[in-house]
Amino acid sequence: MTANGNDLALRRGRVALVGAGPGDPDLLTVKAVRALRAADVVLHDDLVAPSVLALARNGARIVAVGKRYGCQSTPQAFIEHLLVREARAGNFVVRLKGGDPFVFGRGGEELTALRDAGIDVEIVPGITSGLAAPAVVGIPVTHRAWAHGVALVTGHAADDAVEPDWTALVASRLTLVIYMGARRAAQLRDRLIAAGMPQHMPVAVIANATCADQVMQLTTLSALAECAIASPAIIVVGDVAALASRAQPVALKAAGADVQI
Ligand code: SAH
Repeated sequence: MTANGNDLALRRGRVALVGAGPGDPDLLTVKAVRALRAADVVLHDDLVAPSVLALARNGARIVAVGKRYGCQSTPQAFIEHLLVREARAGNFVVRLKGGDPFVFGRGGEELTALRDAGIDVEIVPGITSGLAAPAVVGIPVTHRAWAHGVALVTGHAADDAVEPDWTALVASRLTLVIYMGARRAAQLRDRLIAAGMPQHMPVAVIANATCADQVMQLTTLSALAECAIASPAIIVVGDVAALASRAQPVALKAAGADVQI
């Protein structure tokens, strides 16, 4: 049931698939904040920080539907069922996902399920961790001299899925931004070297990017598996990774007043 609807019988429910950004609440979009402030129900992933959830409307129902590493798994079909059920009950449902909803977020599957059920859906893009993480440590993922493009790749293919074509990716000479690779560093090193990537290629590993416990490690491909990688982490492979800075980020929050949205 909606908490702010006037005529429940006439009110149509809808869903917003909203990107929550990489972690720091200051990196939410204004549109994401507006959606949270209007939500009747918020269904969120594990990677969404409590400080982001705190922006939801008072009285909104907050439901965790995370499925990280298969622990306490909420099956995807159940999440889709919940989205449809809550929207059909007349609610404005915010489906809040870390980063961008369409980058390794299964947002595409949820969009299809909602469209098939005839539910109105709006997409609110978010800043994906794979671009935010290198940016905040000073790595330009494209560079006129060193990288003509960037590929966003999963380091953890689903059990039944084929691996990315590492040979083609290495040959492309694009900067590789690898998601979900923290637990597969040794395999990734082996795959990339076997595919022809030079062993001395710079690699930056950024864990908990944009959060208070952010950690950046700069290494080479051959030494990648020696890093103790916290999770979640982004692995950036390519010449541009060498530009990573270990300098502490400037505290913008201290410099400016809070923005009222
Ligand atoms: N939709 C998300 C990605 C979901 S897949 C996005 O656009 O960012 C989950 C993976 O995202 C993690 O395994 C990790 O590789 C990456 N990730 C998410 N948040 C991160 C963060 N704050 N720091 C580093 N990596 C992060």
